Amino acid sequence: MKQKFIVIMVSFMVLLTSCSTTPDIQATTIPISINYVSTEVTYSEPHAQTGFRINMDSTETELAKYFFESTIDVTEREACIEATEKVLSAQALENTIPEIYIFSQDRYDCKWISNHKLYSTLQAWKSAEYIADVLLVAYGETAHYGTAFGYAAYLAKSYHWSSYDGKFSNPSVGDIMDLNCLCFDEAFATSDDITAAKGIACAFVESYISQHGQQPLQQLLTSHANAIDVLAAYYKNSGVSYTPSAVQYGYGGKKYDYLVYSDCGTFYIANDWVDMNAEYNPLITEDFLHANYPDTKAFFETNLKQMKQYQDLFHLEDYNHDLDIVFTKPMDASKTSFYQSVIHRIYLYNVDSLMHEYIHALTMPTSSMQNWKCEGFARYFSYYYDFYGMPFLNQDYNNTPDTPTTKYIHEYLATINRPIDMEKDYCELENVAVYYFGFTDPNANYLTGSSFVQYLVKQYGEEAVINSIYGNGDLLPKTYAELVKEWNEYIESTYAGYSKYK
Ligand SMILES: [Zn+2]
Repeated sequence: MKQKFIVIMVSFMVLLTSCSTTPDIQATTIPISINYVSTEVTYSEPHAQTGFRINMDSTETELAKYFFESTIDVTEREACIEATEKVLSAQALENTIPEIYIFSQDRYDCKWISNHKLYSTLQAWKSAEYIADVLLVAYGETAHYGTAFGYAAYLAKSYHWSSYDGKFSNPSVGDIMDLNCLCFDEAFATSDDITAAKGIACAFVESYISQHGQQPLQQLLTSHANAIDVLAAYYKNSGVSYTPSAVQYGYGGKKYDYLVYSDCGTFYIANDWVDMNAEYNPLITEDFLHANYPDTKAFFETNLKQMKQYQDLFHLEDYNHDLDIVFTKPMDASKTSFYQSVIHRIYLYNVDSLMHEYIHALTMPTSSMQNWKCEGFARYFSYYYDFYGMPFLNQDYNNTPDTPTTKYIHEYLATINRPIDMEKDYCELENVAVYYFGFTDPNANYLTGSSFVQYLVKQYGEEAVINSIYGNGDLLPKTYAELVKEWNEYIESTYAGYSKYK
C-alpha cells in the first residue's frame, strides 16, 4: 500500500541581525521534519535502450511529489523542496501534481520533462533556470520556454533570489528571438545571444504582467501557440519586425539531445545521431541538428511545411498523427532509414530520406503490399517537396563515375548539356534508367514502380492516381495489364535514342 507522508510546513520567525540596532524581522516558511519512504523508480525514455531502476527517497506535499537519490544530502533536498513549493504555491494548478526526480550527477547529467515529471540533477534551486523547469513541469513540456523563463526570472526577482536585466536592448538579434529552449542552449547559440534571449524574455514577461497581471501570464504557459502570438504582438508593439517560429522544442534526457513536438508527429534527435550522407549533401554538416540554431530551425520549419503539403496532396484526413520520427544511429552502417508500420515510427539515419519515409507513414496503413503502390509511389512523390533531398541527389548524380551500370547518367548529361538538376530532371532520369536496364515490371524495384506511377500521373492526373490507390476514388479506366503494356511501349519509344545495358 502506498504510504502518504505530508511535509509539515511550519511558519516561524527568523531573526536576522542587521547593522541597525533594531532587529529586522521576516516571516519565512521552511519545511521541517521531512519523512521519506524508499520507493523503487524506473527511469526509461521512449524507444531508448538507456534506462535504470533504483530506489529513491520519496516524499510528497499537497503541491508535488519529490524523489531524491539516496546519496543526495538533506540540505540539497530541503533547498529543492523549498524553492519548488514557493513557485508552485504561486500557481493555480488544477488536478496536476508535478513529480520532481533528482538524481546524482554521476548517474544523470541531463534533463527531461514528460507528463508533469521532471528528471534532473543537482542545480542552483533558487535560479530562474530551475524555476523555468518547475513551470514547464507544472504546465506541460510544450509550454513556450521563453515565457516560462521570463516568468521564472520575474518570480526569482520578487523572491530576491536572482535577477536578470530585463531589457530589450538590441532589437536586431535575429533568430534567437524565437525564445524556445534551443535559443538558451550554448550548443545552439553564442553566450551573447543567450544573454540577449534572457533579457528579451524578461522584458516580454514583465511588460505582459504589468499590463495584464500574473494569472493571464500563467494561462499563456498552457498554450504554446497563444504565447507565440502574444510574443509576436510584443515585438510589433516594440517596433520590431519579427515573427517568432512556432516550432516547439523540449529537453531530450539521456539518449536524445532534444525533442521537437509538432502536429505532424514528435521528432527525437539522439545525441550520437550523425547524418549518414553528410559528406554527400551540401546542406548537411557533421554537427547538423546538434549546433547552429538558425540551420536547425530552418530544417524543422521546412520539413514540417513539406509534411503538411503531403497531407494535403494525399487528402489523408483520418491519418494518425501520433508518429515518432527517431533520428538515431543505425545498428550497423549498411542499414537504411525505414518506416515501421506496426508501431507507426520512422527511424531516420539520413535526412534526405525523411520525405520518402513520411510518405510511407502517411499511406502505409491503407497500402497494398504491391511494391509499385508502396515503394514506387513513395519514390515518385518524394521529389515533389524535398528541400533536403534534392541537393543530395544532385551531388550524387553529377559526380557519378562512368561505369557500365551508370552509363545512362552520362548519356543523359550529354543530352541536356548542363549539370543535372533533380527538380527538373527527376522524372526523365527515372525513365531513362528503366529503358537502359530494360525493366518491364513495375514491381521489379523502387525505380520501376516510380516510373510507372509517374506514367499513370501523366495519363490520368495525380488526383485520380492517388485516389485510385489510396482513396475512395474510382479505379483507373484500364486494367493493370493494359496500363503496364502502355507504360512499356511509352518507355521503349520515348527513350530509344539511349543505349541499353549489356
Ligand atoms: Zn520506402
